[in-house]
Amino acid sequence: MLTQNLGYPRVGSRRELKKAEEKFWSGAVSAQELDQTARHIRQQNWETQRKAGIDLIPSNDFSLYDQILDTCLLTGAVPERYQPLVKKDPLTLYFAMARGLQQEGIDIGAMEMTKWFDTNYHYIVPEFTKDQEFKRISDKPVKEFEEAKALGIVTKPVLTGPVTFLAVGKEKEPGFDRIDLLPKLLPIYTDLLQELADKGAEWVQLDEPVLATDLSERQRHAFSLVYSALRAAAPNLRILLATYFGDLQENLETALSLPVDAIHLDLVRSPEQLETLLLNTGFVRSTRQLSLGVVDGRNIWKNDFQKSLHLIRKAEEVLGKDRLIIAPSCSLLHVPYDLDTETALPGDIRNWLAFAKQKLSETKILAQIFLDKRPWSECPVYLENQNAVQQRQQSNKIHKAAVKSRVAGIRPKDSERGTTFSERQSFQHKQLGLPLFPTTTIGSFPQTEEMRRLRAAYKKGAVTLEAYEAAIRDEIVASIRWQEEVGMDVLVHGEFERNDMVEYFGEQLSGFAFTQNGWVQSYGSRCVKPPVIYGDVDRPTAMTVRWSSFAQEQTALPVKGMLTGPVTILQWSFVRDDQPRRDTAFQIALAIRDEVIDLEKAGIKVIQIDEPAIREGLPLRKSGHKAYLDWAVEAFRLSASGVKNATQIHTHMCYSEFNDIIGSIAAMDADVITIETSRSQMELLDAFADFEYPNEIGPGVYDIHSPRIPAAGEMVGLLKKALKSIPPKNLWVNPDCGLKTRKWPETKAALVTMIDAARTLREEI
Ligand code: GLN
Ligand code: ZN
Repeated sequence: MLTQNLGYPRVGSRRELKKAEEKFWSGAVSAQELDQTARHIRQQNWETQRKAGIDLIPSNDFSLYDQILDTCLLTGAVPERYQPLVKKDPLTLYFAMARGLQQEGIDIGAMEMTKWFDTNYHYIVPEFTKDQEFKRISDKPVKEFEEAKALGIVTKPVLTGPVTFLAVGKEKEPGFDRIDLLPKLLPIYTDLLQELADKGAEWVQLDEPVLATDLSERQRHAFSLVYSALRAAAPNLRILLATYFGDLQENLETALSLPVDAIHLDLVRSPEQLETLLLNTGFVRSTRQLSLGVVDGRNIWKNDFQKSLHLIRKAEEVLGKDRLIIAPSCSLLHVPYDLDTETALPGDIRNWLAFAKQKLSETKILAQIFLDKRPWSECPVYLENQNAVQQRQQSNKIHKAAVKSRVAGIRPKDSERGTTFSERQSFQHKQLGLPLFPTTTIGSFPQTEEMRRLRAAYKKGAVTLEAYEAAIRDEIVASIRWQEEVGMDVLVHGEFERNDMVEYFGEQLSGFAFTQNGWVQSYGSRCVKPPVIYGDVDRPTAMTVRWSSFAQEQTALPVKGMLTGPVTILQWSFVRDDQPRRDTAFQIALAIRDEVIDLEKAGIKVIQIDEPAIREGLPLRKSGHKAYLDWAVEAFRLSASGVKNATQIHTHMCYSEFNDIIGSIAAMDADVITIETSRSQMELLDAFADFEYPNEIGPGVYDIHSPRIPAAGEMVGLLKKALKSIPPKNLWVNPDCGLKTRKWPETKAALVTMIDAARTLREEI
């Protein structure tokens, strides 16, 4: 029985890679220095895994930016616009593809980025053309294999499987199906496998997570073509086919028919598929190995050894122990490095957690307990583990009877506003008295360097609460005055008191814990530190009323109350695994509902509940979409429905693909939705138009990701385009998203222009 790991976090335990990269981009360190940092991280990662006793340690799981971008270079899938850079040094090309390049007369945009399956990790989307040629222009997998070998570790190189690589990319021109590029792509892989075998590799891991998604017939068919060719090319290399993030369902047959040496299954997401596999006589009678992904690579909870050992035993009874490999469910890229560096978590909560390093030990210990002659219950490590598991199950930190009974008592009418939108609309228009095409912003105003520094100083205790709050008050007053002056219709307080839209609420709700170093790579050098939702969530006191009321007291114009919605709070946290996500979402929804009601009581007439993460929570399989969308929509409605008809509920989403979820967006029944549209030239409004979306919409009229200030005419043009599908009384005027990352001068200039555009439109209509 072996142990293996599929991938390790790569930003460094103290985010060394992020820091080195950002310095490299600004010219403060050289390519050699960046390379040294990268080597050091790889070495540390390998040694950590060796020390943990892992048998099959991955290599080529490291990346300077993203593993799919690495695969683009490995296969020479370099879009035309970067071709002039191919002759330059490889790092210039690499980072130009990742981040764009503006230098010495060159101005090339970055490649597109999107979320990796249902994770919060973003990968670079490969672009393919009809006449796509492939050519190996990088030796990364071989180099990293040799680098580890020089340290005395014979690793298992990890490659993105060819079918997955094509599947996660997109066609840049019409008239072909990218899966048909396989015959041209395959030689890159067969050559590489031969070379790795020649260099002494014994195993190679091919990641094919697309097997956990709905595949087309042609994609499914492609698998046998690919894996027969790979098998033939490297007969002595052991091929591990890695699947993760879900149940293979109808693709299991396909996976089991492939001539590979081992297959990895994610038994955390789907323990049931083990039984299906064990019924497959072809697999059972073969000598193929099975890798059991029993340690959760997507979440931070300590493994329940009893559960895992039961699964291992089930497999062992049919296959025997020699055919089994114990592993985390997927790459550990999605969890933080090391719990040992967390010194501020309450002791009991800390004892419920495991980060990447701890998950390696869990993997090894599971194999050891299983192979131990003693009964499990006589192994001290087992008992210790079960103790922690039980303690968590019973802790009164987690279980709050009042919260549970409140969720159990939710009635359908709690998610109803009680009247139709058109009735509410007339109440709201009367109460608010807004002009046609009202102007507003999405919530945050620039977070100046001073404000950030002040917050950091306040958190460290170097600045008093009084001084910190006085500064926030000044910012709010100044921003309200300015919005009045320029003629904004619905004002915001600017969110100066918030560090982050989830953390700010998590810190005030019960059931949340925060780490000091729990960083997880989001994309490139960007990392996030998700809160940990460990217990029943409730709201000890109002969270935003004080600042919202303060802002409202400064003006007679309406100031929007600003909240983060339940699905987004859920989606951007590590979520408890002892109850369905839905239940946690409803608990958060009730807390937000109370906040909405309190804001209304305090005289706030417009309340925005941001839900930018609704779409990314969609399950990988179409068959799962409806159930998810049903509870996600209900959670939102629950949070929004406690107020009177005259109170206007806004929501905001910052992405631009609504086609497949427009019905659910409409079902959220927010009075106003603001969305990102400027970069798509309002095209995504088509989804709303085709659906005859009934409520009010604010399609963003300018891109907040760039300091560029469009002319008023450009915004008027976009608005006129929007008016083709939106009735005038439903159209709002606002930017694409919040402005916290911008600077004040460009923000002011852009908003003045935007208000100008709204005025022009009012005159012309
Ligand atoms: N209200 C938030 C802001 O303006 C919304 C941010 C978001 O959509 N991601 O910053
Ligand atoms: Zn946004």
